[in-house]
Amino acid sequence: MSTESRLRLIWLYPDLLSTYGDRGNLLILARRADLRGLPVECAEVRADQAVPADGDVYLIGGGEDGPQALAAQRLIADGGLRRAVDRGATIFSVCAGYQLLGNSFYAKGAKCAGLGLLDLDSDRGETRAVGELAGEVDPALGLPTLTGFENHGGRTHLGPGVRPLARVTAGIGNDGRSEGAWHGRILGTYSHGPALARNPGIADLLLRWATGMTMEPIDDRWPTRLRDERLAAVLKS
Ligand code: GLN
Repeated sequence: MSTESRLRLIWLYPDLLSTYGDRGNLLILARRADLRGLPVECAEVRADQAVPADGDVYLIGGGEDGPQALAAQRLIADGGLRRAVDRGATIFSVCAGYQLLGNSFYAKGAKCAGLGLLDLDSDRGETRAVGELAGEVDPALGLPTLTGFENHGGRTHLGPGVRPLARVTAGIGNDGRSEGAWHGRILGTYSHGPALARNPGIADLLLRWATGMTMEPIDDRWPTRLRDERLAAVLKS
């Protein structure tokens, strides 16, 4: 992003992938950029539209198996997201959106090709993972405890090309031990809720990746209350 230009936030396929308040992630990113005086432009790209390769941050949400499989096919055929990554774009992906960035995933019992942007594979678990999710984030990212809500059937196995986002302390995440993954400027999580409202530190990390700028602290009393409330609920259960 040049200093004159706007930070381009692109929400991919809201018509297919947007569950459990995932649109909130776009709102939080735009708001936190705005509070730092960064001009922002938000675009929503539907599944029948071409994916522009000139975005700074791409957001992909969660969804049911059918829309997830269709989204992966379209993103692979389109090629715009891969070109964006080649230019150094930042991606934040949640649940189905996270799985489809990997090498492969299962939808409706069938193995599907992912985009291969994250070195991971997802298969089906014996049970559905539903409920509160918490974890201690990779120290390399310097972020507080991750909190979120998860609802997925898939289990994700990380390859050597990615690092886990967090070590699970409540819930399932990838496999009951690790949660999410990151590599370069691509980050994926099973955390809905929406994740960036509950984890503003991740929003600021994405903004740092996208701009190369330090994010000045802002008044986070409300997100902190939300985090504390949800973490207390996890600890009680
Ligand atoms: N369909 C995927 C699964 O069940 C993702 C679900 C979701 O995005 N909430 O694993």
